[in-house]
Amino acid sequence: MPLIAFHNTYAGNPLDRAGERRSDAAWIAARLADPASQALALWNGQPLATTTDGGGAVLHFISAPLAKAFAGGEEWLLFLGLRPDGVAVFAVDLEDAVDPSVGVLQPIGATFEGLRALAPRLDPQQAAIAAEAKAVFEWRRRHRFCPACGQPSQVADGGWKRVCSACAVEHFPRTDPVVIMLATQQHDGAERCLLGRQAVWPPGMFSTLAGFMEPGESIEEACARELYEEAGLEALAVRYHSSQPWPYPSNLMIGLIAEVAAGEGRPDQTELEAVRWFSKREASGLLRGEIEGLFAPPPFAIAHQLIKAWAAG
Ligand SMILES: [Zn+2]
Repeated sequence: MPLIAFHNTYAGNPLDRAGERRSDAAWIAARLADPASQALALWNGQPLATTTDGGGAVLHFISAPLAKAFAGGEEWLLFLGLRPDGVAVFAVDLEDAVDPSVGVLQPIGATFEGLRALAPRLDPQQAAIAAEAKAVFEWRRRHRFCPACGQPSQVADGGWKRVCSACAVEHFPRTDPVVIMLATQQHDGAERCLLGRQAVWPPGMFSTLAGFMEPGESIEEACARELYEEAGLEALAVRYHSSQPWPYPSNLMIGLIAEVAAGEGRPDQTELEAVRWFSKREASGLLRGEIEGLFAPPPFAIAHQLIKAWAAG
């Protein structure tokens, strides 16, 4: 039965990850050798895709045996899962200095493109498949050596773990949680929300506040700490909205709506250079690009969805 949930971009992956199959090396090898199996190629983290007539994009899958030939070893392969029709889908990580789409893959006519630019043009389910592959490859790239003893580690379980060749400790892909929250407040008989901006952002862009969770914190506590540190606001109640896999490199954005106590707030000038309050009408206008000189993140960002959900509520 499908899960009823709000799917942000990069969520809603249609593949059955078939985790119980990953440790079956013979099964993985047979699927990889099957010409009917598919593979998504990523070059330096950028998926292979083609542009459609309407300006959209579709991922370009190559055959799994071809991907295996390019890969040159298990280190560069990942079993993503099974399509609803049972076809096995892999990913291959290409790290050559030279773009393979102008080399060995040129006859295909597809190009490698950064996922941030590509995702809004992809079907959401395809964006989720690309995010799965990118997040695991980014983790693998950063964890080639055992964190326990410093020796090289080897890929196992269809690409889903690394095993240290010296101390045999197993390491699994990380997902680093980030709290991202829309602060809301009762003010003069109506609700308003607070958005902030970082100095490095394009001029005029305002968004929700966010920060990495720290060890030993609950989600609610991380939300309250970040609101106080960045904007000087006291959280009263924290409500979960939705979450978003964010493969830059391997994060999970936990989307919250946080009611805060009275007070205007102030930017900390470290993370935020400015904060601004918006009524529901102003927030809706901001999302639609109707406030001159100001804009919010695009719909594929969870920040956009949090503002939209609150403004419509
Ligand atoms: Zn080790």
